[in-house]
Amino acid sequence: MLLKNKVAIITGAAGGIGRAVARFFADSGAQLVLIDLDEAALNQVIASLPEKSKNSLTIVADVADESDVKSAVASVLRQFDRIDILVNCAGICKMISILDIEVAEWDRIMAVNLRSVFLFSKEVFRHMRDRRYGKIINIASAAAKIGGLAAGAHYSASKAGVICFTKSLALQAAAYKINVNAVCPGPTKTEMTNAWGQQTNNDFADKIPFKQYAHPDDIAAAVLFLASDNARYITGEILDVNGGLVMD
Ligand code: NAP
Repeated sequence: MLLKNKVAIITGAAGGIGRAVARFFADSGAQLVLIDLDEAALNQVIASLPEKSKNSLTIVADVADESDVKSAVASVLRQFDRIDILVNCAGICKMISILDIEVAEWDRIMAVNLRSVFLFSKEVFRHMRDRRYGKIINIASAAAKIGGLAAGAHYSASKAGVICFTKSLALQAAAYKINVNAVCPGPTKTEMTNAWGQQTNNDFADKIPFKQYAHPDDIAAAVLFLASDNARYITGEILDVNGGLVMD
């Protein structure tokens, strides 16, 4: 029960990694707030959780939209009066050549992957600062470090932004005993990588020293550690979970 009674927001909670984080947090005693675009998908996540988590709060919100983010955070505070943990997990990815990226597409990837992290962190930090307690965990990507096996340049650049934002916020938040860290997954078996097709996934798995993709639980285990007080002296860390694909 590492997170007993902690109130935890998870964005992108209907996706592969978000669902795994929700399950790990539920099993660890957290009170969940699940945020995603699709209400039906969020309800399916709730249905898959243990009985005690059936009363989790679900919020449909576009994480890139400032007014959605403000109203989501306000709803959580109205319902629970506190936020202990924020996991910024929502993200989108596209395999695309740089010559085919239009400005609108560049802006959308940046908004969903990077602006969202800024918007949620800002709203939640304001509240955590007053309580002198909080854990913020951002999901970056190995693509940020190596340019991406499959992802477009805009995706890799957005995730590099997430890494630097994590370090900048960690510096500012340390005075308030708030931990800000990132997990950097390599290719992971989710809907995101399913979209790449079997052949591509086989080829990429071959480049990984472990010769296989991560399971979403591998990422969730790292997120749970950083969200717990076992990691209380860790901040500004970018934790690689990638089967040896990137070592730095
Ligand atoms: P996923 O299964 O596609 O889940 C992403 C979730 O985010 C989906 O439920 C998606 O909803 C939601 N989402 C997208 N745009 C949103 C928005 N504007 N507002 C609210 N929710 C939104 O992908 P995943 O693999 O779990 O990825 C989770 C995170 O890990 C992402 O940040 C991703 O970049 C990162 N990551 C993944 C991998 C990998 O190999 N899978 C590797 C490195 C990093 P819809 O499905 O309705 O769009």
